[in-house]
Amino acid sequence: MDDKLLQTALNGSAVTVFAEGKDPKRTIVYHRLPFFSPKTNLLLELKREVIETGKSVRREVEIIKYNKIYYVFLNLEPIKDETGQVVGVAGTAVDITRSKKYQGDLLKSEERSRRLIDSNIIGVVIADTVKIYEANEAFLKIIGYSKDDLKKNKIKWKKITPIEWQESDQKAMEELLKSGINTPIEKEFFRKDGSRVPVLVGAAMIEADPLRWVSFVLDIYDQKLMEKRKDDFVSMSSHELKTPVTILKAYSQILQKLSSPNRTETLGYLNKMNAQITRLTKIINDLLDISKIRVGKLVTVNERFSFDQFAEEIVNNFRLTVNTHTIKIIGKTGKEICADRDRIGQVINNLISNAVKYSPGKEKIQIILESETDNVILKVKDFGLGISKANQEKIFQSFYRVFDEKGASFPGLGIGLFIASEIVRLHHGTLLVDSKKGKGSVFTLTLPINRQ
Ligand code: ADP
Repeated sequence: MDDKLLQTALNGSAVTVFAEGKDPKRTIVYHRLPFFSPKTNLLLELKREVIETGKSVRREVEIIKYNKIYYVFLNLEPIKDETGQVVGVAGTAVDITRSKKYQGDLLKSEERSRRLIDSNIIGVVIADTVKIYEANEAFLKIIGYSKDDLKKNKIKWKKITPIEWQESDQKAMEELLKSGINTPIEKEFFRKDGSRVPVLVGAAMIEADPLRWVSFVLDIYDQKLMEKRKDDFVSMSSHELKTPVTILKAYSQILQKLSSPNRTETLGYLNKMNAQITRLTKIINDLLDISKIRVGKLVTVNERFSFDQFAEEIVNNFRLTVNTHTIKIIGKTGKEICADRDRIGQVINNLISNAVKYSPGKEKIQIILESETDNVILKVKDFGLGISKANQEKIFQSFYRVFDEKGASFPGLGIGLFIASEIVRLHHGTLLVDSKKGKGSVFTLTLPINRQ
């Protein structure tokens, strides 16, 4: 009860906290306590409060000890006699400095994350498959919803994802579960007004079960518009080029017919001109195909034909024009297949002309025919430059070309294999490469006999 003396039964920890480790000899004076300035003796005030009110006081206080700030959780309880009169105060003090510091760090890091979210540079959203828990202004702006819609739980990930993007969403979630993050994917969201917005979305997992994640969403409407303009340009210019080239080809053929057979020099030039026009036509057709693939309009038709005979026809055509290489067919499939004859011809032609192009000085090229119960297999094997492991995946991407270390490059646009793999995909087949740099390459085309 004394305001000057603190009657104590200090235990070991209390000695450390209150008396700087010095033996308090059971009694210490308030003003000697290390953690309250003499003017505002908080402990004294709190003790008085307990005595006056008869109620306990719990408080977090800051103390300075050894010139450092510590945090203590004080709990002061009244000690009452049998009449209910307060006769003393018993207290405990818990050193909470460490947890306080941890809390502070946590707050700081939370503050940093919050700043990132509130910066609205990028859409940030915390969601699971059923609910969107949190979203910043940037995300709401992208999808045209308000904070109020969010509060009223009107935005659901599934609902704002168009059906054709749900499969890629599913894949992204599987990747998320497996590795904790998912590589950003391009997809679309429905805006509130029903229109669509193209976005790039990457995510990191917050919880595995049930799956909850934080997504970073970038509006790519402008980029997509630019891309579309470029695609339209390629499509339009190849259409524009097609007509004059077709007319040019017709005239050159007429000229060939009109020339007298003994004018060999003229005929020779006309042949060369024709070959160049054919090359030009192929480039234009490839560019048109790229445009069609971009908008998902590359269509194929089905026809039944003997695969071996077909392969032989293609190889024979090559033999007429290629005199640097010998092309040999090994084996047969003995099968008829149901596929788009012209488009599959385009794939095989591309593989063989690549084999010729990329094996200068190595004259052997093999076409190996095999079959499985449901598939035909055609391999094109050359003994030329080969492709490094790192490049083997990339050569099927559009516009990807491998440049030789010496800087030498072969003519081409890097789109043949991209178109080929798209055609094969439409046939539910596969196109794979096995190659060793400097030793040669094998491209394996597998096609189902009966295409669904
Ligand atoms: P292009 O031949 O017009 O460049 P492709 O799409 O047909 O385009 O091929 C892409 C790239 O793959 C080529 O630039 C070449 O580097 C590599 N490539 C394709 N086939 C072969 C091959 N048989 N041997 C070595 N490299 C090849």
